[in-house]
This record gives sequence, structure tokens and C-alpha cells, in this order.
Amino acid sequence: MRDLADAAVSILYPRRCPVCDRPVEPAGALICRGCEEKVGYVREPVCMKCGKPLENAGQEYCRDCGIRNHYYNRGAAVFIYRSVDRSIYRFKYEGRQEYAAWYGEEMARRLRDRLEKWAPDALVPVPIHPARLRKRGYNQSGLIAEEMGRKAGIPVRQWVRRVVDTAPQKGLGIAERQKNLEKAFKIVSSEVKSKSVVVVDDIYTTGATVDAVACALRRAGAARVFFVALAIGDMN
Ligand SMILES: [Zn+2]
Ligand SMILES: [Zn+2]
Repeated sequence: MRDLADAAVSILYPRRCPVCDRPVEPAGALICRGCEEKVGYVREPVCMKCGKPLENAGQEYCRDCGIRNHYYNRGAAVFIYRSVDRSIYRFKYEGRQEYAAWYGEEMARRLRDRLEKWAPDALVPVPIHPARLRKRGYNQSGLIAEEMGRKAGIPVRQWVRRVVDTAPQKGLGIAERQKNLEKAFKIVSSEVKSKSVVVVDDIYTTGATVDAVACALRRAGAARVFFVALAIGDMN
């Protein structure tokens, strides 16, 4: 009966493809055969700090990491942002929570080597403010972290809470973003102490958000803080 009900639901609401947004072909897959080729994956050479793609292999760091320090140890991302921007928009703002299954699987698969090397104790999603959570119904980074954690065998921990609903960060300079974010996050567990943590976010641009979370985690005693992002800008 259960299977029948599930089958009926999937006919009425077929899983949509994170790339083309049509019902996935073949049914039962997480992404259409062929659609995966349309997304841009981050490839070497990448910045030794943030994992952003670089123009030439002679560079060690991207322009941003070359001029300022970050609170995290190192990070990596899976997709070039502009190749998945519409997909992420639907995921965040149009209720396409189902995309998280494919996103999380890709992150676990493509970042496996990095994760093995970092050997984290936990994945910590970047939280959204409770008011925003009530409105949206889900935290997009939380969904990605859950799917990724399941595939990679790493526990997900909600060690960080967002206590200030920061203004939209678009159009602000780095200094302003940082100032906005400084007091936005609070650590809510003493378990963080001496742990190796991977912060999970959907998009990495200037790194202001990840830095603010990493800063809070370090202050609470985290030994090492890495980040993984679903997508990253490729400007350097
Ligand atoms: Zn498709
Ligand atoms: Zn960088």
C-alpha cells in the first residue's frame, strides 16, 4: 500500500531535474541523462585557499585570498556558480528541495579526496535566521549537508545558530558584509571544542559568510575549520 501511495505521489509530483527543471528522464534518476553535461564543474588549477578556479596554473592563490586572510583553513566547491545559478535560485526560492539529493551526492562524490584528507568530525551547515526558516520552510544549506553527510558518512551537527537576520549581502562591499555578519552567528554547543569541522554553504562568493561562521567556531575552540560550497564564483 505504501509503495502504491509513493508511486501515485511520484506520478502526480515527479522529481524534477536540477538542470532543466522538467520531470527527470529516466524516472527514478536524480538528474536527466545528458543534463549533467550542461553544468560547469570546478577544475584545476584552483586557489590553494578557497578552491576558486584560477586563470593560470602559475598562480597559487586567487586575487581575494592573495590580499586577505580567512578564518577557515581551506575550502572547496563543486560547481561554477554561473553554470548553476538558475538551478540554485529555484532550489532556494521556488521550493525545489528535491534538488538537494543530487547536489549532496555530487558534493560527496567530487570532494571525496578532500574530505578523506581533512577527516572532519562533523559537517556544520550555515544556518539561516529562524524567521527566514519559518517563511521558507527549509534551510537550503542544511538540506545539502544532510544529503552529503549521508553519502559521505559524516555526521551533520547544528552547532551554529543565526541570531541576527542580516540584510541582503548583494551590492555591499567586503568590509560592510563582514561588519554585518560579525555578530550574526552564535555557537550553541560546547561539543565544538577541539573538533575538525566542515562548514557547508550553497554559494561562496567573497567568503564573508563562511569566514563569520569559521570565526565563531574557532572562538568556541574548533581545532580546524574547512568549508565546502555547492557553487563558487570564478572571478579571480
Ligand atoms: Zn534535465
Ligand atoms: Zn582563493
